[in-house]
Amino acid sequence: MSTIQIHGKKFKLSITREQIDEAVKNVAREINRDYKGKRPLLLGVLNGCFMFATDLMKHLDIECEVSFVKLSSYQGTTTTGTIREVIGLAESIAGRDIIIIEDIVDTGLTMQRMVETLGTREPASVAIASLFVKPARLMVPVEVKYSAFTIPDRFIVGYGLDYNGLGRNFPDIYDAIE
Ligand code: 5GP
Repeated sequence: MSTIQIHGKKFKLSITREQIDEAVKNVAREINRDYKGKRPLLLGVLNGCFMFATDLMKHLDIECEVSFVKLSSYQGTTTTGTIREVIGLAESIAGRDIIIIEDIVDTGLTMQRMVETLGTREPASVAIASLFVKPARLMVPVEVKYSAFTIPDRFIVGYGLDYNGLGRNFPDIYDAIE
């Protein structure tokens, strides 16, 4: 399928499942190297991260744990600017090495807020692993230590990312057609 339609909007194939698989393996290799001998807690940001988190974990060969939180600010294809709270972080993260697992860093506001929130709970370290980064859209300084793809300012769906709730199930990535 080289084009798809979601809620009447057209999208075209841009990144294949094979390319995603390769890029996710590369991120896993870096994490395996950097966290050798440690036991990081991977903290996935739902809903968008679920496929990335699943595939990434399968390629980690270090001791690691995983947990999930929610923190969503996106409706449709533009950032609302409304940042909601972190929901569901039950365990203590004091002294832990945290790797935030995110689907995409756009303006960076979500990750900035997340890093601030986690920082008040005294973790040993906090790093961000994001499948996608859109550097042209960054509004705040956010250090994404691990990223699989740097992409231009386009709205994408698939592999966990949605357009108004739909499209998360596609194994490949599709770009919105204007
Ligand atoms: P930020 O706070 O960095 O502006 O936004 C991050 C969140 O916006 C992501 O976790 C994701 O939910 C959503 N988002 C940003 N860009 C896109 C995109 O191109 N496609 C989709 N589906 N969601 C996006």
